Amino acid sequence: MTDLHRLSIRELSEGLAGAKFSSRELTEHYLKRIAKLDTQVKSYVTVTAEQALAQADAADAAIKAGTATALTGVPIAHKDIFCTQGIKTTAGSKMLDNFISPYDATVVAKGKAAGLVTLGKVNMDEFAMGSTSENSFYGATANPWNLGHVPGGSSGGSAAAVAADLAPFATGTDTGGSIRQPASFCGLTGLKPSYGRVSRFGMIAYASSLDQGGPMARSAEDCAYLMNVIAGHDAKDSTSVEKDVDDYVANLNGTTVKGLRIGIPKQYFNVAGLDADVKARVEESLKKLEDMGATLIEIDLNMTEAYVPTYYLIAPAEASSNLSRYDGVRYGYRAENPVDLMDLYKRSRSEGFGAEVQRRILIGTYALSAGYYDAYYVKAQKVRRLIQQDFLKAFESVDVIAAPAAPTTAYKIGANLSPVEMYLGDIYTIAVNLAGLPAINAPVGFDKDNLPVGLQLIGNYWSESQLLSVVHQYQQATDWHTKRAAIAEENA
Ligand code: GLN
Repeated sequence: MTDLHRLSIRELSEGLAGAKFSSRELTEHYLKRIAKLDTQVKSYVTVTAEQALAQADAADAAIKAGTATALTGVPIAHKDIFCTQGIKTTAGSKMLDNFISPYDATVVAKGKAAGLVTLGKVNMDEFAMGSTSENSFYGATANPWNLGHVPGGSSGGSAAAVAADLAPFATGTDTGGSIRQPASFCGLTGLKPSYGRVSRFGMIAYASSLDQGGPMARSAEDCAYLMNVIAGHDAKDSTSVEKDVDDYVANLNGTTVKGLRIGIPKQYFNVAGLDADVKARVEESLKKLEDMGATLIEIDLNMTEAYVPTYYLIAPAEASSNLSRYDGVRYGYRAENPVDLMDLYKRSRSEGFGAEVQRRILIGTYALSAGYYDAYYVKAQKVRRLIQQDFLKAFESVDVIAAPAAPTTAYKIGANLSPVEMYLGDIYTIAVNLAGLPAINAPVGFDKDNLPVGLQLIGNYWSESQLLSVVHQYQQATDWHTKRAAIAEENA
């Protein structure tokens, strides 16, 4: 079969179970595509062909023996922020260029237990800081829709790999939009779960109170399959919740759009820098949802102006603390020929971290230092609470909140935006992390340059099933999620 990469996760699951093709055939098919097409997309940092084929053979044996799960034998790509035992985990950084974790992240371990086949590890902005994936030590990844553009970030490798059909789905992480924005830039569906829904154990930390892993795929249905594997309490992550998980696949038809109250925040559609095409496509998608029976209700989210400054104090503050462990002593990059211990620390960190990571460590360390702590960090934490309350108040009168995922479509590679311009691009995603809420991106069309546009739906706590279900209904009634970039149409 030459078109295995066109099948949805459900079709892959059924095809494998019905012995229409084997996991080895499917895995070889993807490895061939990666070998041929990833020279242009550059989404993979590491391809684990040998291990993938061994996992595929084990999956085929399990299918024959009748011990398979729904996903046994289905391939996946993991963001290179999830620790993988025996395979290098770089977080896109020179600091971890040679790091091989002694253990698997819980998300990876759960994937293995479910029989998923790991194709490899995909590119990302260094330590997940960025919006283009250009902040990677391994160089830029291309957007499959236009190879001169970025795939977004920080989970840009995950998005590009799926959009080019170099993996049927992928894991991503979202600290301030890093699942939703690359999904938007690459025409994919991506879910950022509620904080605490997916274990952070073995997921290299950026800002621990904001970080959350989740699925990136073509459709809500595909995302639901992955959520069924990765969601749930984990004793190894004290912030993961002890709350029953839903069957996200079974619940795909659980919410009807008819009668759904969708909040439209006034402030969001008046943001300077909101691209006219993005605005138009998002509004068209909302009109469609209205035609399907939803009610659009204008709401106020008065804290909108505070999002960027609040996030860009809290996230760097946590990063400065989390990244202090990279000292050139215990693991990671070590400077050569240090003259003394201080020189070892300084040069290991100056040579091992890229510019954006150093910028954030500086901002964060400053915000946490004596004399400034109350004025910046404590103040930001207070504003964070107000942002959360703003959302909770809105959810008293609406079921979900609609927004663009990003104010623009994908930037050109090398556009070289200033840090502040780049940070302003996070306006629609970061408040969700500050509040710990779940949110999903769904593709809703293209701009004049044929670059994808995304609609974001933000839900109340633990409403992942509802978000997936609403997007699933929308995707049953539209075909944006089935559109493929030219490179995805190529055969290997
Ligand atoms: N663009 C945001 C940042 O640079 C989001 C990153 C993320 O979600 N990991 O911090």
